[in-house]
Amino acid sequence: MAGEVDAVVVGAGFGGMYMLYKLREAGFSVQGFEAGDGVGGTWYWNRYPGARCDVPSLFYSYTWSEELQKEWRWTEKYAAQPEILTYANHVADRFDLRPMIAFETRVLSAHFDEAADRWRVTTDRGDELMARFVVMATGCLSTPRKPPIPGVDDFAGPTYHTGAWPHEGVDFTGQRVAVIGTGSSGIQSIPQIARQADHVTVFQRTANYSVPANNTPLTDKDIEDFWKMYPGYIAMIKGPGLGFGGNPANALAATPEERRQRFEEFWGVGGAGFLAAWGGIITDLDLNTEAADFVREKIGETVKDPDTAEALKPYDHPIGTKRICVDIDYFETYNRPNVTLVNLKETPIEAIEAHAVRTSDATYEADALVFATGFDAMTGTLLAIDIRGAGGATLKHAWAEGPKAYLGLAVAGLPNLFIVTGPGSPSVLSNMINSIEQHVEWIVDCLGYMREHGFTRIAADAQTQEEWVAHVRRVADKTLFPRAASWYMGANIPGKPRVFMPYIGSGYRKKCADVAAAGYEGFELAKEPADVHAA
Ligand SMILES: Cc1cc2nc3c(=O)[nH]c(=O)nc-3n(C[C@H](O)[C@H](O)[C@H](O)COP(=O)(O)OP(=O)(O)OC[C@H]3O[C@@H](n4cnc5c(N)ncnc54)[C@H](O)[C@@H]3O)c2cc1C
Repeated sequence: MAGEVDAVVVGAGFGGMYMLYKLREAGFSVQGFEAGDGVGGTWYWNRYPGARCDVPSLFYSYTWSEELQKEWRWTEKYAAQPEILTYANHVADRFDLRPMIAFETRVLSAHFDEAADRWRVTTDRGDELMARFVVMATGCLSTPRKPPIPGVDDFAGPTYHTGAWPHEGVDFTGQRVAVIGTGSSGIQSIPQIARQADHVTVFQRTANYSVPANNTPLTDKDIEDFWKMYPGYIAMIKGPGLGFGGNPANALAATPEERRQRFEEFWGVGGAGFLAAWGGIITDLDLNTEAADFVREKIGETVKDPDTAEALKPYDHPIGTKRICVDIDYFETYNRPNVTLVNLKETPIEAIEAHAVRTSDATYEADALVFATGFDAMTGTLLAIDIRGAGGATLKHAWAEGPKAYLGLAVAGLPNLFIVTGPGSPSVLSNMINSIEQHVEWIVDCLGYMREHGFTRIAADAQTQEEWVAHVRRVADKTLFPRAASWYMGANIPGKPRVFMPYIGSGYRKKCADVAAAGYEGFELAKEPADVHAA
């Protein structure tokens, strides 16, 4: 493919699909590229047993088409991956998005041609396309990572990564399975694998907090209730933007019994909403410790073997500072006779061998190996593309000390390039579909504004970007988040700069809207390459 379009959109997950739809509706010519052979992104790749959303499905849906919202019927409170992928495919068909996407095509590079104010985009299929704009809808959790364990590629049996699961599924019947990793994907998949396999050995480096999903089928009444509160919900998500911190005043004014009572209530409801039991859990260490003690107690009550229970209790980070997990029967699974937990804090893995995982004190034989070891989050996928902006400056260089993006939307030095849910925006700390919609709408409005005013170039101002990045950091520093060695901090990747990447403060949407209303304040707009006007 050659030629020219107004915009290239990279990725066909929920971000890319909505971006393609909106750009087409706004009258822009657009070409999408997707590495997979179908739409759905996260839900296309993460087909491991037990994969589900952890935001309730009724809310983990697009809001931009009320007809779509009304005609789609989720079957469970937390839909499983096949149902979410079916939804993504339904959206692609209903809005005729497929013709705009080149599938099984990976974008390799995007170089900005300053003389033409256009990007030259190349792919692994030999395409070379010119585009005024590039939108990276490449996902925050789309580059699976394997840990750098000696012998990691020496295993003789099949190895799987939860983030790149075989489409045809995996039958573990009669097998001894080693699962490495107990983050969200491990916590979702281990109970399912344990039901099928002969034996499961779980290798845990970090114990994690998990709250039961209390998943249920959705009833007519649930749907009716949802529609009753829908206008309020829309008003909330279109409002100024909620922060993640919260004020602990109410919690601190309550008695310990009252606090506990509320933890019980929220635990009973289930899900990640547990962290909202009291405002301030994520900012006040004492309150956080009470919440964490509560969860540790629940783990102790659930897991019968005291040593295993103790190993499963997280002590090394405040609750909520790593992504809180939502599970179905996770801790119960350790009561099964065919499940063994290996605590890598005490006996680290020394090597993976042809038929076993060897720790400092034992060798665990295995027929299959599952990596539930997460992603090079938020930056890995973007940095895998050779992106060069004005003057040949590379994204790799610009992000050498950690990601820097104004509002998480644009990077100084990379004109006319936008990121959907990039670092410096609420992204992974929010309901991602809501955040995706907000970014897509902001970007399309911006392109419309430029077209209307005859601008051909927009670039984030470097100083304004620095101030935003400093603000993102300051806000994070007021919370407990930086205390955890989490993927939010880049801590799961050796050598990755430790920077808290998502934006946690309140008022983010208002800030973005104000920037646009002020003629894209903090961006430089130009009509010709030489004609730069600071907004
Ligand atoms: C297991 C799991 C469960 C999750 N559950 C929730 C949840 O309950 N609630 C929530 O809010 N969020 C959840 N998330 C986060 C989830 O990633 C987002 O909700 C959302 O699906 C992201 O959509 P996206 O389009 O931005 O990115 P993705 O869905 O990641 O899509 C990006 C696409 O870009 C493609 N791509 C990347 N690089 C290139 C390239 N160079 N060339 C071509 N194509 C490329 C990828 O193949 C991918 O298909 C979950 C994530 C995971 C991994």
